[in-house]
Parts: sequence; C-alpha cells; structure tokens
Amino acid sequence: MKVAIIGAGLQGLCTAYYLAEAGVEVTVLERNDGPALEASFGNGGYFQAECPETWNQPGILGALPKWWWSSLGGNRKDAAKLLRTTELLRLLPWGLRFLRASNPETFFRHVALNRELAQYTLECMAALRRQTDIDYAHRACGCLIIFRSQGALEGYVPLLDHLGENGAEWRRVDRDAILQSEPSLRPIGDSLQGGILFPNDESGDSYRFSQGLAEMASRLGVQFEYGQPVSGIAADNGGVSIQAGAQEVRADALVIAAGAYSRRVAASIGVRLPIAPAKGYSLTIPLGDWPDRPRQVIADMGVHAGINVLGDSLRVAGTADFCGFDAHIDPGRIDYMVRLVETVLPEFAKVMDRSAIHPFAGLRPLSADGLPLIGATGVPNVYANTGHGGLGWTLAAGSAKALADRISGATPAIDLAPFSPLRF
Ligand SMILES: Cc1cc2nc3c(=O)[nH]c(=O)nc-3n(C[C@H](O)[C@H](O)[C@H](O)COP(=O)(O)OP(=O)(O)OC[C@H]3O[C@@H](n4cnc5c(N)ncnc54)[C@H](O)[C@@H]3O)c2cc1C
Repeated sequence: MKVAIIGAGLQGLCTAYYLAEAGVEVTVLERNDGPALEASFGNGGYFQAECPETWNQPGILGALPKWWWSSLGGNRKDAAKLLRTTELLRLLPWGLRFLRASNPETFFRHVALNRELAQYTLECMAALRRQTDIDYAHRACGCLIIFRSQGALEGYVPLLDHLGENGAEWRRVDRDAILQSEPSLRPIGDSLQGGILFPNDESGDSYRFSQGLAEMASRLGVQFEYGQPVSGIAADNGGVSIQAGAQEVRADALVIAAGAYSRRVAASIGVRLPIAPAKGYSLTIPLGDWPDRPRQVIADMGVHAGINVLGDSLRVAGTADFCGFDAHIDPGRIDYMVRLVETVLPEFAKVMDRSAIHPFAGLRPLSADGLPLIGATGVPNVYANTGHGGLGWTLAAGSAKALADRISGATPAIDLAPFSPLRF
C-alpha cells in the first residue's frame, strides 16, 4: 500500500512514522524546505495531558466583543486575544459551530475525550523514547496553573472534578505551596490566589522531536518531498492523484495533515473541514546562568501565558489572534509577549538578554468543536489528521498512531469515532 501525506508538521510526521512502521510505503509532500517549520516549530512545548481544554469554554460568547474591540485598538496593547473585523464575516459558519460546542455539557465531554487521546499520546511518546534516541529536551516535570483571582480558580474546579471522575490527577495548592515548589514565582507571590498542580503533565521541544522523527521515518523508508506545494487533488475508487510542485504523485490513499491550511486543501476535493487559523506567538529566550529557572511548566491564567523551560532556554507562549492566514510577526505583539515575561517572571526579565530573544508566530489549526479531525473524510481513500488547535503537541503521537492503525488495517487502541471528520 502506498500513502501520500500533505504536510510535514507534527501530525504529518507522526502519521508518516507510524504508517512506515506498519510496512506502508509513504511519501510526505511539504511546501517548505524542511520539517515542522510552521505551527510545530515554536509552540509552548507543553504536554497538557491531564486537562487538555478546548477553547469552547461556556460563556465565551460574552468575551467576543472584547476581542473585537481590542483588535480595533481598544486595549490592544494588553489583549491576549484579538478578533479582526474582516474575520467576523469570514468566520461566521465556523463561529456558529464553535459557539454551539460552547455549552457546559459538550465542553466537559470534549475535554474528557481529548484527555483520553492525550493519555494515549503519553504512552506512545514513552514507547518512542524507548525505541528511538530522539533527544527533544523531554521533562516529566508536571504543570502548575496559577490564578490571580479566586473567582477564576473556583470557576476551573467543576471541570477538574469531572475529569477527576475519569481518572485525572490534580491537586489544589495554596500560595505558600506554590512559592515553595516554584521559587521563580516569589516576586509575584502577593498577586497569587492559588493554583492547580498537574503532576503528570510533561514538556518537550516539538521542533527537535520533529527533526528526530523525520530522520527516523527516513530510515524506515519514508520519502520526503520538500519544496513541493500541493495545488490539486483528484480522488477515485482506485486511489488518489496529487499535484505537488511540478510532479504528479499517485497513491492508494491520502492523509491531509496541512495544519491551518487543511481546510483549503480539503475544499479542493469537496471535503469540508471546519478549521480556523488562530495565530499564536512565542518567545525563546536564553536562560543564561539565571539560578531560579522554573521547575515545572507554569500556566498563568491571569494573563493567559505559558512559561516553560526547553533545554537552556525559556519558552513563553500566548495570544490568540483571529486575523486570517496572516502569519507575519507584528512587533506590537512581541512587545506584549515581553510584557508577559515581565509580569510572570519580573526578576528574570531584569537580567534576560533582550537582543537574544527569538520571536515566533504560528497558526494553530482550530477545529470548531475543540476535537481534532482524525479519520476518513467521506471521499474514498482520503483521510484527515488535523484541527488540533492549541493541543497539537499534546495529541500528536496518539492521533497519528490510531489513524495509522486504522489505515493499515489494525484496530486502533482508542475509539476514533468521536474524532471523525464526518461528525459535522
Ligand atoms: C504559539 C503556539 C503555542 C502552542 N503551544 C502548544 C503547547 O504548548 N502544547 C500543545 O499541545 N500545542 C501547542 N500549540 C499547538 C501545536 O503547535 C499545533 O497544534 C501543531 O503544531 C499543529 O501541527 P500540524 O502538523 O497540524 O500543523 P503545522 O505544524 O502547521 O504543519 C502543517 C504543514 O503543512 C504544510 N502545508 C500546508 N499546506 C500545504 C500545501 N498546500 N502543500 C504542501 N504542504 C502544505 C505546512 O507547510 C506545514 O509544514 C501551540 C501553537 C502555537 C502557534
């Protein structure tokens, strides 16, 4: 069997690896000159495995006017989220589906489904670490979520109670316990109202992982065609033809793993994948000899920032800008990200080498209901593995292993039905 995959981000690479491991002949078609140069390049590095929240929080409708006002210039300087006016109309059908999934029952159910997939991903990643020598700065460090308001903390607990009934491990921690376990937060201790600790969450550098996995996949025979933008697809009962750059590639099956662009790619053969691009930024800052480096992943719910240590650098991730496919780096948003560092780690901000900050912007492929789209698309021989939004690192290996099993005729270890692209 021969399978073509569009996209060499986390989802395409993991799918290629597991298919090749199952004995399938795989060709990956990627428009960039190497693997993982888009969303999978500079993400937060956080394996949010115990509470992989969707963005469809109940009550989100009330926040939309603020995001829109911020994009007009309102409080833009300090806005974690922006919604550009031009996107309001363009996002309408997707947005209505998004809001439909933003009721408490659906939200809780979808986070629990993502959690099952995330737990399976942890298993797959542990197996990969045993089988391969990929060094991706992995840390089984846990995650500490900090809250600056009691109301926000209390608002989080019902979801955790629900997940706890399904086996999630979490603990409530008070200010003293936070400062004891995380000395880097002492300078902002007075502003903290409490936190939640997820001891089983993990961290790792997804770009280093992607590079290593691409090499492993090559060794298994996967053919990588870089610099090959896919411009057309034709599917029939006998297989799929893909126009990639100047060449036409013929395969028995196709997997669309084109990240935020999956919707466009799929639309060319009449497949509807309700995915919107949600732009995020990150900064990578050398830690130098700063002694108080964070021990765990820190998520600050007050300012919507993720702080993580990847190797010798600090990775700060945040923002959700609904501005279409505009992936350029806006200096104003970089200033905002620097202010996040000043807000969460003021002592580090005083000594960090600002000239060495590496900024990044990427488009998260956000599905309308917060679940990824994994499985058959309805067009014969065409599959999807996309729409992972802000959880694409947390869910990558499990999504790919389950889909590869499905395509190669094995029984997936998890039920893929809730993630079917045909659910919309
Ligand atoms: C700032 C930021 C922080 C994040 N933090 C986290 C985190 O801490 N934890 C977490 O779990 N997730 C996080 N995420 C989300 C995660 O990074 C993404 O969900 C994941 O990288 C998506 O992987 P992908 O393979 O679907 O997409 P991508 O990595 O974008 O890959 C898609 C690939 O398809 C290629 N492509 C597209 N169209 C075509 C075409 N026509 N022809 C050929 N190739 C094409 C692109 O060039 C690209 O290489 C974050 C994302 C961002 C942006």
